[in-house]
Amino acid sequence: MHIDSIKDGIVIDHITAGNAMRIYNLLGFDKLECSIAIIKNVGSKKMGKKDIIKIDSNIPINLEALGYIDPGITIDVIRDSVLVDKRSVDLPQTLHGVLKCKNPRCITSCEQELEQIFTLTDKENRVYRCMYCEAKA
Ligand code: ZN
Repeated sequence: MHIDSIKDGIVIDHITAGNAMRIYNLLGFDKLECSIAIIKNVGSKKMGKKDIIKIDSNIPINLEALGYIDPGITIDVIRDSVLVDKRSVDLPQTLHGVLKCKNPRCITSCEQELEQIFTLTDKENRVYRCMYCEAKA
């Protein structure tokens, strides 16, 4: 995996094969103006197959959202073609503004300015529930 095509930017690596588009959509990458490369089904010794997303800009990344989709992801931060930072994500305890509660009777449905907050209630099965009404995500 060569990162020399990026001078200043971010590489989201070790994405479980098939999850790249979920990340692209959930993190709103379609709204970015910079160039983005989605590389799917890359051969990986560790994972068999993986997806990679390269972003040609140092945009802020929502680590909670990434950890929610795929806790095995790593993030490489590149400045002047040099790898300056490597971060990993975890399954987050809480999600702020990542998911929307689907319960029509939930207080967040009528009070739009309330932040959507979900908490991890079952780590094994990765179940998140709305903090306000306890509806499943
Ligand atoms: Zn709710």
